[in-house]
Amino acid sequence: MPYHAAFLRRWRRWSVRGPPGRESRAPGAGVRRRLGRGSGGDQVNPRTSDGGCLYGRTMVDLTEYERRGDLDAPFELTKKHERAQKTAERIREAVRCDVAPLTWEAYVAGEPCPGCGLPYRDEEPWDFKGTMYFTEEERARYDAEQARFKKAHGDCRSHRHSVSGSLTMHCGKCCPPPPLPPRQIGEIGRLLGTPKQPHELMRWRLRLYCGHVVEKQAHYTHKTLHSAFTGSTSCPECGLDPATIVDGEAVGLVEEPPGPAKPSPAAPPAEAHESRAGSESARTGSGDRAASRFVAATGHCRPRRADSASTPA
Ligand SMILES: [Zn+2]
Ligand SMILES: [Zn+2]
Ligand SMILES: [Zn+2]
Repeated sequence: MPYHAAFLRRWRRWSVRGPPGRESRAPGAGVRRRLGRGSGGDQVNPRTSDGGCLYGRTMVDLTEYERRGDLDAPFELTKKHERAQKTAERIREAVRCDVAPLTWEAYVAGEPCPGCGLPYRDEEPWDFKGTMYFTEEERARYDAEQARFKKAHGDCRSHRHSVSGSLTMHCGKCCPPPPLPPRQIGEIGRLLGTPKQPHELMRWRLRLYCGHVVEKQAHYTHKTLHSAFTGSTSCPECGLDPATIVDGEAVGLVEEPPGPAKPSPAAPPAEAHESRAGSESARTGSGDRAASRFVAATGHCRPRRADSASTPA
């Protein structure tokens, strides 16, 4: 896995030289941030609420993640936040369909849409070839369906969907989409892959539209709030859903990535790390030894496990 390899490379580099920019750092003092790519800034690196060192704990560069607003500043909503919240609510409302979809078996048996009662698959097939190529009969049929849909769902302000080969249109708000064939569900499951590991999940502290500061997780590859949460999420404190994100910052992985491999008794530790880079047995033992070397080499705080971390308020 490329991420794992990158982590090991970084770990080895740090365990010898210490994290980037350590010259300007002393234990307990503010951590100076590595100069950003072309930004010219020299800012304080984010630290955990208990003063812990994120470099030691997470082994990811938090400066690469978006930081929006100041979570410690007083909460204040602006007109921009109100507009964003209204838009998020409108979008959510437009695509929310509370009708349960058909089972695949019922769909195959020809049961109609449980939302509007019309068929998903028309008895008379429809071959859409572009409105300018319609015969007179096709145009009449098409216009009649357009008029029917507008009358029934004109106020729903949602999208429309139809099954290939059928003209009947269904409403994104009133009608559940037709079910997927079981084969396709299996394929999607395969593409989505195995469940995410804790060390692949980044913890974010978010201040939401309701004012609550909550912690949420997203895959570590999402470096911006938008790619991680698409602008809004739900609030576990008050239930507001959607709740737009007002401020936010990444605070560290849910769990440290698995440590470097256990060295074999015959080989010196550095080579052992190298030779077992991808091994699954690389999770315990030498992690502590490497951590000691990290502390000895850098005078920097010891990497800690995420489960000993305090949860931000
Ligand atoms: Zn329908
Ligand atoms: Zn509708
Ligand atoms: Zn809330």
